[in-house]
Amino acid sequence: MKNILRMSKAYAPTLKEDPSDAELASHRLLLRAGMMRKNAAGLYTFLPLGMRVLNKVEAIVNEEMDNAGAQRILMPFVQPADLWHESGRWDDYGPELARLTDRHGVEYCLGPTHEELITSVVRNELKSYKQLPVNLYQTQVKFRDEIRPRFGLMRGREFLMKDAYSFHATQESLQETYDDMSEAYGKICDRLGMVWRPVEADSGQIGGKVTCEFMALAEYGEAEIVHCECGYAADAEAGECICAPSMYERDAMEKISTPGVHTIEELASFLGISESACMKALSGKGADGKLYVLFVPGDHELNEIKINREVPGFELLTDEEMVEYGLFKGSMGPVGLPESATVIADRSLKDIPQWTVGANEDGYHLAGARLGEDFKVDGWADLCTVKPGDACPVCGKPLGGARGIEVSQVFQLGTKYSEAMGATFMDEDGTEKPFIMGCYGVGVSRSMAAVVEQRHDDAGIMWPASIAPAHICVVPLTVGDDLVQPAAEEIAGKLADQGFEVAIDDRNERAGVKFADADLIGWPLQVVVGKRGLADGKVELKLRSTGAKCDIALDDLERTFVPCAEALAAGAVDPFDILFE
Ligand code: ATP
Ligand code: MG
Repeated sequence: MKNILRMSKAYAPTLKEDPSDAELASHRLLLRAGMMRKNAAGLYTFLPLGMRVLNKVEAIVNEEMDNAGAQRILMPFVQPADLWHESGRWDDYGPELARLTDRHGVEYCLGPTHEELITSVVRNELKSYKQLPVNLYQTQVKFRDEIRPRFGLMRGREFLMKDAYSFHATQESLQETYDDMSEAYGKICDRLGMVWRPVEADSGQIGGKVTCEFMALAEYGEAEIVHCECGYAADAEAGECICAPSMYERDAMEKISTPGVHTIEELASFLGISESACMKALSGKGADGKLYVLFVPGDHELNEIKINREVPGFELLTDEEMVEYGLFKGSMGPVGLPESATVIADRSLKDIPQWTVGANEDGYHLAGARLGEDFKVDGWADLCTVKPGDACPVCGKPLGGARGIEVSQVFQLGTKYSEAMGATFMDEDGTEKPFIMGCYGVGVSRSMAAVVEQRHDDAGIMWPASIAPAHICVVPLTVGDDLVQPAAEEIAGKLADQGFEVAIDDRNERAGVKFADADLIGWPLQVVVGKRGLADGKVELKLRSTGAKCDIALDDLERTFVPCAEALAAGAVDPFDILFE
C-alpha cells in the first residue's frame, strides 16, 4: 500500500470560523487549518498536519547543520541551577527563567537556552587545541516564561529551537564557523521559501559584526528593520543612527513664553518649526547614582540599549524625582541645570550651534541657545533609535523601513561562559586558555509561523512544497462511485510513484467543502477529478499560490509531472509553477 495521506482518516479538524483571540494570520490559519491547538497561553499541541510541517522544517534545519559540519546531540531540557549560578545568569535572567525544585530540594530550571549546559559538558573533555574547533547542535523544546506570549507559535512559552554551540582556540576559527553557520542559516531561509534579510543586530561593538539576526520580512513582524539598497540592514533597536537635525536660528538666545506647551509636538507647532529643530530632554539616574540629562533631536527617540551602553543601569527619573532635583517636566533644557547633572547629547546635535529647548521653568522655552556659550555638553554619543529616512551608515543614502520576524540569530560569544565556568584548553603555546565560543539559534516553530505570515491569502495557507504537509492533494469531486473515486485513487498512486507526497480528500463531503479545506490547509497543488473531466480524459490542476488552473490529459499525467519531480528533487521551493508558465 502506497503511503498516501487519506483525509477521511486524518485527524485534521478544520474550523470554518476565525478563532476569536488570534490576531495574526499565521496564528489564525494554523488553528483553522487543523494544524495545532492551544492548551494554555503560549502552549500548543501540534496535530498531525502541523506535525508534518514542523518535522520538515526541523529536517531542513538539521540537514543544513550537518552540511555545515555541526554534530547533533541532545541535552536535557531540565538544567541544574548550579550551572546557572556559575555563569551568573540564575540571577540575571529574570522571571523568564522557569525554576523548579526536586523532591530533594535541589533547584533546576527549564532550559530557555543551553550555553551553561553545553559548556559544562565539554569543559571536562575537550582539553587540547588539537581537538578544536567543535560545533554541537540539538533541536529541542525550550521554555521561556515570556511576559506576553502571543501570536501563536510566533512568541510561545514552549517552542522548538535548534541551538548550536561552537568551541574554538582562536578568533579566526570562530569567525570561520560563524561565517559557515550564517551561510547555512541563509540556506535554511531559502529552503523554507522565505523572503528574508540578514540584519545587523549590534553595530555598537567594535571589531566588526558580532551578531546577526535573520529576519523574515512581514507586515506584522515584531521587529523594526532599516535597510538600504547598498545591502546594509539593521534591527532598528540596534542599528547606528545617523540623523540630521535642523536649526531654528535666532540672533540671540530668546526666552519665549510657551503656556501649556509640554511636548515636542506642541513646541514645534507653537513655534511653527519642525520637530527636528527642537531638542528633546530626558533625565535619569545611572547605576552610579549620578544625575544625567540627555538631549536627542525632537523627531527621534532615545534608545534604551544605547543609553545603557553609555550609562550602565540608566533609568528615567520619576515625576517625583524630577521635582526633587528641581527639574521641570516638559520644560527641561541645558541652560541652568543643577551643577550635579552630567549632560550627554546625541552626536548629531554637535553640528547644531543653536538649540531650541526647555528653559528649566514651567511655561517657558529657549530658542537660539548657543552650544558652548549658553550651555555645555559633557559627552556625545549615538543615543537614538534609527528611523527610515536617516542616513545609511555604509553609503549615506536614506534608509528604508520594513518589519520583520526574527527567525534565527548567530552570535560570537567570546569567552563569556568559558571564563565564568572555568572551561579551558591547553593551547599550542602550552598555556591554559578559555574556549572562544559561538552560539547559533533557529526558531523552528517560529519559522513555521513566519512562512505562513508571508505565504497566505484570505482562503488559507500557501505552503512551499519543501515543508507542505504533502505536495499534492487529489480531490475527487464525488466518492463511492465506480468512476471518479477509482480514477482519483489511481492518479494519487501514480503521483506517489513519481516521488511526490500525496494526500487524497476521500471524505464524503460536498465539492465546496473540499475546495475550501484544500485552500485552507494550503497543499501546493490540487488535482481535481470530476466526472465531466474524466469523460474528456482530463483532470484539472490548481496552483494554490496563484489560483491558476489548467487541464491536463490523463494519458499525459506522468510525463507532465516529470519536470516537477525533477525540480522537487533539486530542492525547488515551488516545483509546480512550471506547469502554469
Ligand atoms: P526575541 O527577541 O524574539 O524574544 P530572542 O532574541 O530572545 O528572541 P534567541 O535567544 O536569539 O531569541 O533564540 C533563538 C531563536 O529562537 C530566535 O531567533 C527565535 O526564532 C526563537 N525564539 C525565541 N523566543 C521565542 C519564543 N518565545 N517563541 C518562539 N520562538 C522563539
Ligand atoms: Mg535573538
